[in-house]
Amino acid sequence: LNTIIATVNRLVEFTDQYQKGITGIERFNEVMNLRSDIFDREDAKELKNVKGSIVFDKVFFKYPDQAEDDPWILDNISFNINVGENIALVGPSGAGKSTITKLIPRFYEVNKGEIRVDGININNLTLESLRNNIGIVQQDVYLFGGTIRENIEYGKENTTDEEIIEASKLAGAYDFIMDFPYGFDTYIGERGVKLSGGQKQRISIARVFLKNPPILILDEATSSLDNTSEAIVQESLEKLTKGRTTLTIAHRLSTIINADSIIVLTEDGIAERGSHHELLDKKGVYYKLYNSNNEDLFG
Ligand code: ADP
Ligand code: MG
Repeated sequence: LNTIIATVNRLVEFTDQYQKGITGIERFNEVMNLRSDIFDREDAKELKNVKGSIVFDKVFFKYPDQAEDDPWILDNISFNINVGENIALVGPSGAGKSTITKLIPRFYEVNKGEIRVDGININNLTLESLRNNIGIVQQDVYLFGGTIRENIEYGKENTTDEEIIEASKLAGAYDFIMDFPYGFDTYIGERGVKLSGGQKQRISIARVFLKNPPILILDEATSSLDNTSEAIVQESLEKLTKGRTTLTIAHRLSTIINADSIIVLTEDGIAERGSHHELLDKKGVYYKLYNSNNEDLFG
């Protein structure tokens, strides 16, 4: 009898978790789709065979809830990122770095000017095809109540076990996942196992490996991870950026030094662009930030 009760209990718990998983995904979708006033234009085109160049062409932007006479958050910003280039975006806090990354997947739309991917104004693309080609790894990882597998698979249909395992290995997540009794079927969230910050981040990196997008946006974590976790995350991110156009909001000096090019953004716009050594030689804004030893250095 005890076994039957235990089985029934497990079943009840499973059903409960399953339903929670569904609502979890819905909540996740809400968070990810941010604004409902952004949708496909009538004649929107599919973004296909993406190479991954990005152009900001005289972009002006302020948030929808801002007053009309508020200054622009982005005031006539222009830059380009070539296919496969790895760009570090640095600058003081509040300069607009995160805002720039939110405009590329069109979580918000520009007020003036345009953003082009592979030469096409992103406003003329379907949101789905645009976002399918962009991978985002953020500091605050949002996972939904569901299994690890569901969380890695999110946004991709018909994945095989092999693909999921491969993505997890590349993300440095496979070993800790296999340490859980239920492996990929381990339930995470309120009712399931609690993951550390580094583990969550590795799950989100596995998700991006699986999606395999040509364009990457990384919001580099400042501190929250322990040293071991940070080293693994760092290593997986280096693998992830290989061969993809990458824009990283960079805080770590090693990321900044290794970038193909650094864009220095201040409240007055793009101050400088160049390699670490070029910018140091220039003795301009970057040089000053670098030598200030200010915590806010690369905000
Ligand atoms: P950074 O990432 O460089 O620190 P952000 O892009 O986060 O800068 O912010 C740039 C400016 O935009 C800041 O003044 C910030 O207060 C403002 N801002 C950011 N998000 C919003 C928002 N959702 N609504 C209104 N203003 C915002
Ligand atoms: Mg930011």
